[in-house]
Amino acid sequence: MMAYAPAPLSGPEVDRLAGLTSGVISAGAYAEWLKAIEAGWSADKLGTARDKAFAARPRGDRCVYCQDNEGRELDHLRPKSLHPELGWCWANLVPACGTCGGPAYKGARDAVLDPTHPQGWRDISRPHAPAGAARRAPPAGQTAWWNPRRADPMRAMKLDIVDDSFLFLITAAPGSADHARISWTVEKLGLNRRATLVRQRRAAHQAYARWLVDVIDAQMAADRARLDRLRVDLADHNQPVVWAEMKRQRADLPAIDAQLRAAPQVVGW
Ligand SMILES: [Zn+2]
Repeated sequence: MMAYAPAPLSGPEVDRLAGLTSGVISAGAYAEWLKAIEAGWSADKLGTARDKAFAARPRGDRCVYCQDNEGRELDHLRPKSLHPELGWCWANLVPACGTCGGPAYKGARDAVLDPTHPQGWRDISRPHAPAGAARRAPPAGQTAWWNPRRADPMRAMKLDIVDDSFLFLITAAPGSADHARISWTVEKLGLNRRATLVRQRRAAHQAYARWLVDVIDAQMAADRARLDRLRVDLADHNQPVVWAEMKRQRADLPAIDAQLRAAPQVVGW
């Protein structure tokens, strides 16, 4: 998961989303809101806001959550099947892939922060509600999902490059709200248990290190055209979070630090 910061909405775009939201909550009670959002939600109805949401995806138009696949869908951070009133909420939309948003991982899960529970959150998902059962609003509370629009998730975790596990290690203080949020989010998105993602992060680290060697070679040869190509190539590298973490953790990574000192301009690329 990476920080995600789409451009702010214009006045007409804000009005459009507000109008869509009032179309849901004017439908009656909670059960009617659900029917209205299930029948009426489509990313296309967001108009130009949809384009703004997708334009801010991580490099390579990736999923904000895994950075593995293309982020082709707009995921509701708090699922609209639990929170229909947030179906058109701009701050609740995150570009994601079908795998992350699907039932194996994020799906329709949600939890609220609850310090009385050992993990700091209480699961309020209801994936197995029987058909026809009365659908009631979930318990109130702050969501346990880390919203990458509100804060950079790397504030609460770091990628383990030093010990080569390529797992995300939680750095937030135990017992804090940040700890509860990042734990729930990493676990439910499967960021550490999807072996493909872990392998990709390790492979991406190797690719970035090779790329740095190429940059230094081109620099020593004063090959301006090759340097320009390498700069463009950076945007096509997989797993941009790995590159961000290599730069952030350079003090603990002597080989990378030496390369970054030899080619300091790449830090700003
Ligand atoms: Zn994904």
